Amino acid sequence: WLEIEKFFKDIYYRKAKEEGWRARSAFKLLQVDEEFNIFQGVKRVVDLCAAPGSWSQVLSRQLYLPAKSSAESKEGDVPLIVAIDLQPMSPIEGVIQVQGDITNARTAQLVIIHFDGSKADLVVCDGAPDVTGLHDMDEFVQSQLILAGLTIVTHVLKEGGKFIAKIFRGKDTSLLYSQLKLFFPTVTFAKPKSSRNSSIEAFAVCENYSPPEGFHPRDLHRLLEKVGSPSGGSHLDCSSGWLEGPNKVYIPFLACGDLTGYDSDRSYPHPKEADGSSYLSMDPVQPPIAPPYKRALELKKASAQSIRDA
Ligand code: SAM
Repeated sequence: WLEIEKFFKDIYYRKAKEEGWRARSAFKLLQVDEEFNIFQGVKRVVDLCAAPGSWSQVLSRQLYLPAKSSAESKEGDVPLIVAIDLQPMSPIEGVIQVQGDITNARTAQLVIIHFDGSKADLVVCDGAPDVTGLHDMDEFVQSQLILAGLTIVTHVLKEGGKFIAKIFRGKDTSLLYSQLKLFFPTVTFAKPKSSRNSSIEAFAVCENYSPPEGFHPRDLHRLLEKVGSPSGGSHLDCSSGWLEGPNKVYIPFLACGDLTGYDSDRSYPHPKEADGSSYLSMDPVQPPIAPPYKRALELKKASAQSIRDA
């Protein structure tokens, strides 16, 4: 494993461990914030699909911890952070954890309970299904996860709030953009510097939540279907040209993060290697406590054991 790390020299993976982040994804959220100032004035935030927790760590370090130290002297209130994932994750100071499925409507109610009926200023969603490698399939499942996130948004986000969601760029990107535009006047697709160019991942930065007049969350799917549904799902399928030609949607796309800084597709020698000393790899900050691959590892171990016993 050390050899793999040395070979790839993934600068953000290494920096994540040096700075105490559980995953390199932390840099993606930090770089989105550098460009869009998403944390300004935020008091209540929901982190959807949060495990192993590097985005929750960013929220804790940027919002909770600074407010806590000043609240201790001024007795002010501290921001509330609610993190949801199918998987459990080890605790993070100032983060309330809910183990749940974001595709389940009741999950929104759990968030509202923690906010005492108040609404969130910011919802972030870094959800990713298990990637199959089949781009169309992965993009479709990812878009379903974003729509689940959007369902939660319609229940918990206050007007004027922000929604940041991971997307996979593909042929349904225009459709997704048009669907998000129904609720947010400003939608930008951002590619943080720490997200590899070779990855189809990007982030939708949706600002100023403004649902249509008279909108009720139960009408969400009906409304979205008026715009269209992902490939193959309806006659309004955008891949059949509905959002093409004169209807073509131009999506604002922005690179973010220090563009003169580290490039996630390049390899960098460790400073210690450069001056001739040897490089000692650091342990991961907090390995996942119940990763989905745990069962596969158990089965592999059991099968190796039964071969040895035979
Ligand atoms: N933002 C996280 C971080 O910085 O540590 C990384 C998130 S990871 C890329 C994607 C997560 O999505 C996984 O932990 C997975 O369990 C979660 N996920 C996928 N589908 C979900 C669902 N339906 N409900 C809740 N979480 C889900």
